[in-house]
Amino acid sequence: MSMSTTAFGTVFAPTMSLATFEDGEFSAVQVVPSDEIGLSPAAHVLHYASTCFEGLKAHKGDDGTLRIFRMHRHAQRMQRTAERLHFPVPTEDLFVELVTTIVKEHRDLAPDPPGSLYIRPTMIGTEPNIGAAASPSRTGMLYVLLSPVGDYFAGGLRPLSLLVETETPRTTPQFGMVKSGANYIMALGPTLEAKASYAVDQILFCLDHVVTETGAANFLLLDDERVITPVLTDAFLHGVTRESILVIARELGYAVEERTVTLDETLEWVGRDGAEAALSGTAAVLAPVGSLVHEGRRLTVGSGEAGPNVVRLRQALVDVHRGRADDRHGWTTPV
Ligand SMILES: *Cc1c(COP(=O)(O)O)cnc(C)c1O
Repeated sequence: MSMSTTAFGTVFAPTMSLATFEDGEFSAVQVVPSDEIGLSPAAHVLHYASTCFEGLKAHKGDDGTLRIFRMHRHAQRMQRTAERLHFPVPTEDLFVELVTTIVKEHRDLAPDPPGSLYIRPTMIGTEPNIGAAASPSRTGMLYVLLSPVGDYFAGGLRPLSLLVETETPRTTPQFGMVKSGANYIMALGPTLEAKASYAVDQILFCLDHVVTETGAANFLLLDDERVITPVLTDAFLHGVTRESILVIARELGYAVEERTVTLDETLEWVGRDGAEAALSGTAAVLAPVGSLVHEGRRLTVGSGEAGPNVVRLRQALVDVHRGRADDRHGWTTPV
């Protein structure tokens, strides 16, 4: 069976796995149709944004084996997010059961390389109570959607352009590190404005002239020797791709620096010969950044093209996804 993978995120497997919760207790895992859910118009999620999600992928290898990448790490991040949202915290086992059940069911929907099966665990509060603005939803559900996706860079590694934003934050300080819907709607206005005014792809949020990340990806500076990236704080999302790239970079002999990265040093860095910058995330893996727009001026990053270090690190991670390289850290789960 083949499905169109043209528009990212619009094609879904016909069923999904689901566990409901009530007063902190989760139900057994069921498999249900994925085209609709019953929800009261008064549901907590629709009024008070009690929602969070994860995003991970299963990749088919050249050997035909389907491997889920870093499922346990994503489970742990969803646990942290659920905690911050005052949801009941799903056990790692429940998360794993939900993900593996549905991936096994739809193994045949996984596209051949370079496509993959995108996995979207989603948690929402369903209590029909508009008086519950200041209390957690007593009821809710955790479900896992699957979406076959093509290569993010189907037409080649196109370098991205970023607008440097120093005044508007992406989200609030206490929500920077959670994958919750409210964050993305908060970043939407500034992002649309940046796209319209400067024809950039994304915003690089640098409140107080300290670099954090874009709307949905982490930021790295690279050259032949070094990989530099902001040290983890509550202000931004702790990307699993970021973490994986840093492990691989160390193994390949790069000096990895996780520390405060100022906007000033970033602007200085990108002007140098051999400088590279990149965004990391599950969707695009590692994407080259070709230019930054700062105070109305467009600064080219190094050559402006995808640099050799971005290409090398990206390929090294893709090789683990696809089972071409040794999985030294137990990152992949064959299903
Ligand atoms: C999902 C996401 C990332 C990337 O995380 P990965 O685990 O690498 O996919 C980075 N920033 C934000 C805001 C995100 O939502």
